[in-house]
Amino acid sequence: MMQMREPGLCTVDVERGELKGATNRYVKTLLDLEGLYEDQAAYTSLLAKMADEIVYEVTDYKPSSMSGDMIIGVTRMIPGKVGNEYFLTRGHIHAKPNRPEMYYGEKGTGIMLLESPAGEIRTIEIAPRTMCYVPPFWIHRSVNTGPGELVMTFAYPADSGQDYDIIAKAGGMRNRIIDDGKGGWKAVENKQYRVRSDHLIAEIQAKAD
Ligand code: ZN
Repeated sequence: MMQMREPGLCTVDVERGELKGATNRYVKTLLDLEGLYEDQAAYTSLLAKMADEIVYEVTDYKPSSMSGDMIIGVTRMIPGKVGNEYFLTRGHIHAKPNRPEMYYGEKGTGIMLLESPAGEIRTIEIAPRTMCYVPPFWIHRSVNTGPGELVMTFAYPADSGQDYDIIAKAGGMRNRIIDDGKGGWKAVENKQYRVRSDHLIAEIQAKAD
């Protein structure tokens, strides 16, 4: 007979920005985020002040990594900028790129920055009680554009995996999210970005099992 998995119960601590009852936790410090920001001088000087400080943290509940199962969790990011560029997560495409994801705003405001393999960009504004659907095949990263912490819950298929290299190999994502000088944000071209070859795009799109 089929082995039944036990139901799980976690609670979202919105103030602390974490999932109580999580099975995993990982953190990223500013030092871990080297090479992501355009302004190297600003990065270096900020590093001297907050090298070990946690920029973002993920706590999740992962019952398994089986196909058809699901991972749920909470992500928390502190506010800040490197030069005029807002704090961001490393970002990824799913290792099985045809897997989707859902993000739900709990606290703070930010952007879900999405890029297709061919380099199309979408910016989805996240605020409390907004739900963002990340479709299959989109590279995604979150950006904290607000004055306080950005906390979101998320859910995605347990066998998705993450490929971070896709962003690094392209010199970053096509757009950067910067301070517009009026307390808001704007998306600007990333000068380091290199467009993917048709061959690579076809290779990504073919990974659909
Ligand atoms: Zn994802």
